[in-house]
Amino acid sequence: MNLDLITSASNPLIKTLRGLERKKVRNETGLFLAEGGRLITQALSQGWEIDTLVVSASGLQRDRTPALIAQAADSGARLVQVPDRLASAIARKDNPQAVVAAIRQRPLSLQALDAHRSGLWLGLYEIRDPGNLGTILRTADCAALAGIVMIGPCCDPYSVEAVRASMGSLFDVRLALSDYDAFQAWRSDTGLSLVASSINGQTRHTEVDFARPSLILMGNEQAGLPPKVEADCDQLCRIPMRGGADSLNLAQATAIMVYEGWRQRGFA
Ligand code: SAM
Repeated sequence: MNLDLITSASNPLIKTLRGLERKKVRNETGLFLAEGGRLITQALSQGWEIDTLVVSASGLQRDRTPALIAQAADSGARLVQVPDRLASAIARKDNPQAVVAAIRQRPLSLQALDAHRSGLWLGLYEIRDPGNLGTILRTADCAALAGIVMIGPCCDPYSVEAVRASMGSLFDVRLALSDYDAFQAWRSDTGLSLVASSINGQTRHTEVDFARPSLILMGNEQAGLPPKVEADCDQLCRIPMRGGADSLNLAQATAIMVYEGWRQRGFA
């Protein structure tokens, strides 16, 4: 298999790959970075387009690397070999993974979500922390949610931190981005019951009927859900708390809500 050897940090491709740490460059190129053989294999198996596969010199010595290179080549990826120091520079880590890939972004529109599926859905309102987002994507994947809608200005699901925290679940879940009005129009078309998870809820989260096709709506890390959005929901529910903290962490509250919904559906 032929890999292009690049050794200079000033090579334009290396500069672009390094730039993918920044949202501006991700938006301009439509690409994002994923590190490690496991994540890249997962992306390939889910049909994501690998634009460039970068293999470090020490990565080339690993047993599993040739199979990954062959798979990426079959899918049409550009193959590049770099010294370890350049792999570190791209991943901005002292001990980078053996392989790093630039992958084409694949956001879904609301219309591309199969909204009439009778499953459980998740809405994330103006969430800002990519670590929380990655953790939530992983939970959503584990609980086989029907889909996720990120509503309003949110953190970037293609940031290095979100991709890392999702542990590859970004490649498995159905994720759409939307503004609030378009989300509400889509939601009323689908007939999904809108259940806000909120510290203002009067109903305990275990008392919500999740057998109905439902979308669980989670709020921003600092401000929660605005009053107008809460007023638009069919139900507000609260996870009990007794200590001094005013709320649970967003990713943990999401896991509790999603798993309650799934439990009620017999973990089907
Ligand atoms: N100060 C914010 C507020 O007033 O809502 C707290 C935001 S909290 C860190 C982020 C999100 O996690 C909330 O919007 C809500 O969706 C969810 N959450 C946190 N604790 C919760 C609880 N006890 N019950 C229900 N949802 C909760």
